[in-house]
Amino acid sequence: MLDVTELSRAYGQGPAAHLAIADVTFSVERGELLTIVGPSGCGKSTLLRCIGGLLAPTSGGVVLNGAPVTRVPDRLAVVLQDYSRSLYPWLSVADNVALPLRRTVKGRTARRAAAVAALETVGLADAARRHPWQLSGGMQQRVAIARALACDPVLLLMDEPFGSVDAQTREDLEDLVLAVRAERGITILLVTHDIDESVYVGDRVVVLTGGPGRIRAILRVSLPAPRDQIATRELPEFVHLRAEVSRLVRSGSQAQAQLAGD
Ligand code: ADP
Repeated sequence: MLDVTELSRAYGQGPAAHLAIADVTFSVERGELLTIVGPSGCGKSTLLRCIGGLLAPTSGGVVLNGAPVTRVPDRLAVVLQDYSRSLYPWLSVADNVALPLRRTVKGRTARRAAAVAALETVGLADAARRHPWQLSGGMQQRVAIARALACDPVLLLMDEPFGSVDAQTREDLEDLVLAVRAERGITILLVTHDIDESVYVGDRVVVLTGGPGRIRAILRVSLPAPRDQIATRELPEFVHLRAEVSRLVRSGSQAQAQLAGD
């Protein structure tokens, strides 16, 4: 469904140019949940922005459903870490979720119905009339997820979506994403710096090295479904994979530190 081919992106021009990602190539199957993990600053967000058509690659390209990505594709949704900046405090929860539908869905009633359905999916049907500031951080992030789902996306890009919530809420949100994927069959790319999370939610894990971000490895996660926060994390396969990803991330960032020191 998605092909990323020899993608590179530099910031700045001429001798001052800084290469953020280099020669990144991978494909994603329809309905797959791919996690992207790597040290801070290795270009995870840059990669996601190129895939989402928000940033033009310096070279290489992205093809979604057979069409090159040159602008933000239809039915693509993005969820960012910073929910407090992504929701409008003066709008109700339902109006926040319905807002992006103004371009695609005609009629206030239809938009409202789509928003309520999306809020039901994330377990927040009762919060439709409240305002974001009346909700906890985890609930606000659920609203951001509902807003992404309301436009019925085929591809959902999530950039460190659970970085700002406590551990328990984070686990609940991870399970929510897995449930949504199972229910709707959406293809999801989730960027995280949390190695356990990359293995727990992923079908495959892409490990990036730093400076510039290159693919270090792509690992398949053959853990049974449905995943369970306690039972899955106890499995020898989980323990082995998280150690493997950890080693790959560490060796990538050590190589980067050595290069910086040379
Ligand atoms: P990550 O998401 O893995 O933390 P980013 O994609 O945000 O990494 O950044 C990768 C590299 O590109 C970093 O060195 C960062 O400083 C640089 N960078 C990111 N955005 C910009 C920008 N708009 N202008 C210049 N450099 C940037």
